[in-house]
Amino acid sequence: MACSTGTEDEDLARGKEPVPQEVQEAIRTLIRWTGDDPAREGLLDTPKRVARAWREYCQGYADDPAIHLTRQFEEVGGYDEIVLLKDIPFQSHCEHHMAPITGKAAIAYLPSRKVVGISKLARVLHGFAQRLQIQERLTAEVAQCIWDNLHPQGVAVVIEAQHGCMTGRGVRTPGVGMVTSRMLGCFLEDSRSRKEVLSLMGY
Ligand code: ZN
Repeated sequence: MACSTGTEDEDLARGKEPVPQEVQEAIRTLIRWTGDDPAREGLLDTPKRVARAWREYCQGYADDPAIHLTRQFEEVGGYDEIVLLKDIPFQSHCEHHMAPITGKAAIAYLPSRKVVGISKLARVLHGFAQRLQIQERLTAEVAQCIWDNLHPQGVAVVIEAQHGCMTGRGVRTPGVGMVTSRMLGCFLEDSRSRKEVLSLMGY
């Protein structure tokens, strides 16, 4: 009995997720909305491709980005300075227009005892970026995740990005970048630490 309840729950959960057919139909509708003909040869397989592409753009929903920070190292050879990964390219999509956000991030922390493999910082960024986002929240989520899971003395995240919804439509201003930052711990409280990390980042 317990077994069958579990299956029903799973069916229910699955039922909430749209089936590929529905997604492709929605994309065909969108194509018609643009003024084009979804039955045109060049567009025939487009709904399938778009559905697949969006699964990939938004694969961050599949994981909790904190899992990338579970492997931590205590042997740091007495290193007690800032660890910084900069110019990390990323792509995301804005939740208001589902338009691309492309940019780069700088992520730094001041360890207290523990460090993580440096590539993990980029993985945390991608985990949050591969969702429908606003840049402000993306910046805050990356910083908070590192703060909560690595417990460092400080975290600093600066993100610079261009928004497709601004460059390709609306005010049409290509080349305009938006900068957001989140400082926690010593980088928030101590202006000298903040100055140091920002200058290492190139700001
Ligand atoms: Zn937008």
